[in-house]
Amino acid sequence: SCHEPPTGPIETTLCDYETVESLNDDLFSNLSDLVKTPFFKYFRVDLYRECPFWHENGLCMNRECSITTVDESEIPEKWRAAALSEVEMPSEDQRKTMPGCYYRDCDFCYLDDMTEGDYVDLSRNPERFTGYIGPSAHRVWNAIYQENCFGIPEINSPTGKTRTHDSFTDPLPQDELESGGGQCLEKKVYYKIISGLHASITTHICAEYFNQTTGEWGPNLDCFANRVAAHPERLQYIYFNTVLLLRAVSRIGPYLSEYDYCSSGTHEEDLETLTKLGKVIDIAQTVGKFDESVLFQGEDADILKDEFKAHFRNVTRIMDCVGCDKCRLWGKVQTTGVATALKILFELDEAALDPKSNLNLLSRSEVVALVTTLYRFSESLHAVNDFRRIWAETNSAD
Ligand code: FAD
Repeated sequence: SCHEPPTGPIETTLCDYETVESLNDDLFSNLSDLVKTPFFKYFRVDLYRECPFWHENGLCMNRECSITTVDESEIPEKWRAAALSEVEMPSEDQRKTMPGCYYRDCDFCYLDDMTEGDYVDLSRNPERFTGYIGPSAHRVWNAIYQENCFGIPEINSPTGKTRTHDSFTDPLPQDELESGGGQCLEKKVYYKIISGLHASITTHICAEYFNQTTGEWGPNLDCFANRVAAHPERLQYIYFNTVLLLRAVSRIGPYLSEYDYCSSGTHEEDLETLTKLGKVIDIAQTVGKFDESVLFQGEDADILKDEFKAHFRNVTRIMDCVGCDKCRLWGKVQTTGVATALKILFELDEAALDPKSNLNLLSRSEVVALVTTLYRFSESLHAVNDFRRIWAETNSAD
C-alpha cells in the first residue's frame, strides 16, 4: 500500500484523492515560504503548565526534545505580552474556574494564556524524531483516543472528576475506537481527525529520522511502511484532515486576507506574506470541499456538538501531559490548528466571518496555528510522495 496513492472520493468530503495530489506540490511550496515569514514563524506557547489529568514525570532528557525560545525583544511590539494583556483580561473568578482560554471564545480548544509562556521560532525548532517513546507517549495517545467516547458517562473522559489516573494506561480495544459500523458520523469524523493527526506526526518523525548507526538525519522507509502505510486508512485520514483544514482556510479566506500581518519586516515583506497567503487561499477554494453540512444534524445535534467540542478541548489540554518539550510544542500547535478549523466550520456563521464587522474573531495564535497545521499536513503528503519514490527505487534495485 506504500507505493500507490489512494484514488476516488474522500469520504465525508466532496473532494477526491487525485485532486489533493495534483495540487499539493503547489500548496506545499507556498506554505513553506509562508511559514518562514515573521508573522507565521513566531508562536507564543506556555510549555510549563502542569498536566491536569495525571502526574507526568516522563520528562524526555534527549537533546532533541528541548527547544530554544526567542527573547521577547526580537518580537514585534504589538505581539508582545504587554500589548496583549491590554486587550482583555479575565476576572479572578474566571481564572479560577477555567484555566486557559477564558477570555476569548475559542470553543474547541483551550488556548494558553497569551500573556504567559515564551515565544518560539517554529522554523528553528523543526518537528522531527526526538526519541520520545514508551509509556509516557503511549499514555498521551491513549488518553486522546479515549476522548472518542460519545454518549458514554463522563467517567470515561478526562472531563470526568471520578476518573482514576490508572485508567489512562489501560488500552481501549482498538475496534471500539475505530470507525466501525453502527457508529454515528460525528464519532467517525472525530476518530479520523485524531488518527490522521497521529499518522501525520508519525510521518514527520519517519521523514526526519535520526539514524543512530550513521549519525545522520533522513527518511526511514521501514518506519513509515510499518507505522503508516501498513494501515491504509491512516494515510487516508491525512488527506481527510488536509481537506478539512483547506475547507476552513477557504471559508475564512476573506477574513484572512484582511488580517493585520504587520510585522517588524518591511512593507515589501508584509506584501509578500499576503501574496503567498492569497495563493494558499486560492488552492483552498479549489480543494477545500469538506462537507460540514452533513454533521451535527438531527435530533440531538446540539448535545452532540457540545460533547464533540468538550472532547476536543480536552485533547488540547492533554498536550500539557506530553513529556517532551518539542513534541508538546508541536502537539499544541497542531491541536490548536485543528481546533481552529473546527471552530470555523461548526461555530461561525457568515456574519461572524465578515472581516469588516468582526476583525477580532481569531487571535494571532489561532491564525498561525491554522496555517502552520495545514503546512504540517501538506508536508506529510509531500513526504509520502518521497517515500513512494524511495520504495520504487529500493524495489527496482532488488
Ligand atoms: P505510537 O505512535 O506511540 O502509537 C501508539 C499506538 O497507537 C500504536 O501501537 C498503534 O496501536 C496506535 N496507532 C499508531 N498510529 C495510529 C494512527 N495513526 N491511528 C490509529 N492508531 C494508531 N515523537 C517524536 O520523535 N517527535 C515528535 O515530534 C513527537 N511528537 C509527539 C506529539 C504528541 C502529541 C505525542 C503524544 C507524541 C509525540 N511523539 C513524538 C511520540 C510519537 O508520537 C510516538 O508515540 C513514539 O514515536 C512511539 O511510537 P510507537 O511506534 O510506539 O507508536
